[in-house]
Amino acid sequence: MSSRYDTAELNRLDKQHFTHPWTIFDVFQEQGALPISRGDGCYIEDSNGRRYLDAVGGLWCTNIGLGRSEMADAIAEQCRKLAFANPFVDMTNVPATLLAAKLAELAPGDLNHVLFSCGGSTAVDSSYRLIQFYQNCRGKHTKKHVISRKNSYHGSTYLSMSIGGKAGDHPPEFDFISDFIHHISCPNYYRAPAGMAEPEYLQFLLDELEQTILRVGPDNVAAFYAEPVLGAGGVIVPPAGYHQGTFDICRKYDVLYISDEVVTAFGRLGHWFASKDVFGIEPDMIITAKGLTSGYQPLGACIYSDRIHQVISEPGHGRCFAHGFTYSGHPVACAAALKNIEILQREQLLNRVQQLGPYFQQQMKTLEDLPIVGQVRGMQLMVCVENVRCKKTKALFPEELDIGKRIADHAETLGLIVRPIVHLNVMSPPLTISRSQIDDIVATLRK
Ligand code: PLP
Repeated sequence: MSSRYDTAELNRLDKQHFTHPWTIFDVFQEQGALPISRGDGCYIEDSNGRRYLDAVGGLWCTNIGLGRSEMADAIAEQCRKLAFANPFVDMTNVPATLLAAKLAELAPGDLNHVLFSCGGSTAVDSSYRLIQFYQNCRGKHTKKHVISRKNSYHGSTYLSMSIGGKAGDHPPEFDFISDFIHHISCPNYYRAPAGMAEPEYLQFLLDELEQTILRVGPDNVAAFYAEPVLGAGGVIVPPAGYHQGTFDICRKYDVLYISDEVVTAFGRLGHWFASKDVFGIEPDMIITAKGLTSGYQPLGACIYSDRIHQVISEPGHGRCFAHGFTYSGHPVACAAALKNIEILQREQLLNRVQQLGPYFQQQMKTLEDLPIVGQVRGMQLMVCVENVRCKKTKALFPEELDIGKRIADHAETLGLIVRPIVHLNVMSPPLTISRSQIDDIVATLRK
């Protein structure tokens, strides 16, 4: 089937009718968007038939790569069999049940219960609804506050955006929830106060969390939200010991530890989930989406502990959890996730990441010799290039120069997709990426 279209007409229709997320509308009306019409493996193709190596993996999500017939077949088969069933209370559907059981098997510790959503943001929203319900069921009615980190990204609904801590996402003309959400420092050692040793910096971060809990009051703090590696905040790997330290403080004050693994799960860091296998902690809840279906269908999930489940399902208390979406546990999305997990397992893609990830990091790191590259950082198949005006002072380029976007635009003309985030460029290719494709990414970025 041809993937060629009348690009001018597509551009016209797109500008006229499609309101894109995260768009500066007046600039968009001038520049338009690149119409993508096809994808296979790590490549995408535009409506003129031009191919690009997609180093972003869609949006950190096309873990098994695009264009898999097996996925298309599984989705089509489920559509034919059962495209929808009511997930509320007394009805279920086979793929949702099987997927919930599979996630319980893959998730660490006693995370044996799954609340489905339509994506990452709605999973973050749902997690807070569940946490409130849990705290109410325990009689802890004041435990409603949340602590998260500056520079974190947790989604784009009103609540998940408020939990997120990226300054640029909270412009003053928008109103966000601030009365029960508290943001502490982002654990970015590259931007730590000059001269501070890493262990000292770690202690500062841990003290800040503890002080914040004490200031808000342990009886008021319900949960701490953290991405194992901050993704959209610039692929920030916290100092060694950070997750264990924050986890211990949460335990000390009866605060739930919520690990947002929307990006870091399903092989991105070489494991099903990074919380336990990479960072050694068993959180109370893992939130995930993206790689769960490798982007073939929209789906998100909160995978939570026996401890929470026992409280909310205690015999005799009879309270209804008044929450749920029409598409919670959508059979087609769940069938896609099951097939995606089967492929990840069969092709041993997690092992592949463990072998190839260090090569990706090493090769990307060679770009640090460029005059505008302040730091290349990351873990396995997540990487960020931080562009700076001065390597010594780490001073940034003026924002209006839009350095990340200029680099991404130039890379696009050379056939490579990298994602700009202000002064950063981030990458998270499909787990099927090869050594030679990694070499292509590095060579193109050098240009
Ligand atoms: N949480 C994290 C860590 C994310 O990176 C994202 C999206 O990038 C989300 C939540 C929101 O997910 P979605 O865009 O599927 O709503």
